[in-house]
Amino acid sequence: HLASFLGGLNMAYMEEEQNEDYLFKIVLIGDSAVGKSNLLARFARDEFYPNSKSTIGVEFQTQKMNISGKEVKAQIWDTAGQERFRAVTSAYYRGAVGALVVYDISRRQTFESISRWLNELQTHSDMNVVTTLVGNKSDLKDAREVTTAEGKALAEAHGLFFIETSALASSNVAAAFETVVREIFSILSRKVM
Ligand code: GDP
Ligand code: MG
Repeated sequence: HLASFLGGLNMAYMEEEQNEDYLFKIVLIGDSAVGKSNLLARFARDEFYPNSKSTIGVEFQTQKMNISGKEVKAQIWDTAGQERFRAVTSAYYRGAVGALVVYDISRRQTFESISRWLNELQTHSDMNVVTTLVGNKSDLKDAREVTTAEGKALAEAHGLFFIETSALASSNVAAAFETVVREIFSILSRKVM
């Protein structure tokens, strides 16, 4: 009895160890102050910073997720302010399999920068990166400068997922990250199994 019990334990342990193997690097990109750091803070710690300065310095956060019964770790990289100087390095993109390209629905200029960010992503990555276009600050209804339809159309034109979020109101934040991780996982499953 004891032997079979221990055997069972061992099996569970091995399965768990196998599950630990899923680690996906996801990068956050987009203009300064669109809410990248706050999307990550909301997702990883359920926190929000009214003052953006408080989130500088974090390189990446690893978040465990459950996808189709498997434990998957998303290693989510945040720019720590380099995007302010258009100095996001190629090391930042290296090995990324997913990306959230973020604009602020209340600042049209950040939406117009999206194609530049997509170009940069393509230039620096050596594979097809699963990408979601994220229109953040959906809570700022009265200040909206980019319609939902425009966001959708741009995403469709580039073959991206699309979602509008609010890090402040905690709306759609987990979904934005999960969409990317789920798709990466499903591509991987098709290749391996
Ligand atoms: P980053 O430069 O892209 O990392 O942007 P931050 O996360 O630092 O956010 C920039 C500013 O926008 C900060 O003052 C945040 O409090 C604010 N912010 C971020 N997300 C939202 C949101 O969903 N709604 C609103 N109203 N403000 C937000
Ligand atoms: Mg930031």
